[in-house]
Amino acid sequence: MNENKSIILKQVSDLIQKGEVVAFTGAGISVESRVPAFRGESGLWEKYDANTYANLLGLGATFLIKPKKVVGFITDIYETILNAMPNPAHLALASMEEKGILNNIITQNIDNLHQRAGNRKVIELHGNLFFLRCLKCGNRRELKEQEIRDILSLMDKNLHSRIKLFKTFLSLFPKCSCKGQMRPDIVLFGEELPEGAMELSFSAIDNCKTFLMVGTSGVVYPAASLPRYARRCNKKIVEINDEETSLSAIADYKLLGKASEILKCFT
Ligand code: NAD
Repeated sequence: MNENKSIILKQVSDLIQKGEVVAFTGAGISVESRVPAFRGESGLWEKYDANTYANLLGLGATFLIKPKKVVGFITDIYETILNAMPNPAHLALASMEEKGILNNIITQNIDNLHQRAGNRKVIELHGNLFFLRCLKCGNRRELKEQEIRDILSLMDKNLHSRIKLFKTFLSLFPKCSCKGQMRPDIVLFGEELPEGAMELSFSAIDNCKTFLMVGTSGVVYPAASLPRYARRCNKKIVEINDEETSLSAIADYKLLGKASEILKCFT
């Protein structure tokens, strides 16, 4: 490690140990858990066309014409996330929460890995793949791992029959006890964020001293407005990323490298 980086690391470590930290995480923190980010060489949108797969209309329309393609996409995403384990970066944030120095995580991720690492105070901006949400009453219900695995294996079994495949696909869209329509609780392109998520995030930022950005390119809005809000509130801004991003310019401290290697220095 060069001398300059170790000086910044020490300064950031001192800041973090003082507490009142809010972490703002993106897909990059889960890359070391083998969950690909959206952008970049091995990004999800290199493999799947975002215009087709990142919105409900595109998914529905493609399912009618090429159901196997949509099933392949859903299976790919769920299997990747089901097989992923929290990595040392997630575990470091969990240990910081346990020590009382991390107030909240605001995450753009949908992979549930922060909760699996042990964090309890997680504000999810883009939902969570392991929950269904009712469009009528807003009720959320957990999708258990086994339930997901059963749906995936039924999809695989029914690949030859369009009607059976459609019925299996619909099990991700069951009826709620209020008779409203449920759907996977994730925010697709063009959709609104969960009610109250931005307000909770603003309030978490108001109450923090340090805003720690980890593994986000800062280009997805409205989430990307939060670091700018933290800047306007004069919070100390730290960026941990393996590349310069659109947020680097507003950071007081920039730590270039892998999230796991850097975050474990603070535990
Ligand atoms: P992004 O893909 O736009 O950017 C990820 C950033 O993390 C990049 O700047 C990349 O260089 C950096 N990065 C990659 N590996 C890293 C590592 N090991 N350590 C540090 N940095 C690393 O992701 P984003 O900013 O979160 O925005 C994309 C959207 O993608 C979000 O809305 C999110 O919902 C969604 N998404 C989530 C997941 C997930 O839940 N794990 C995965 C893919 C996409």
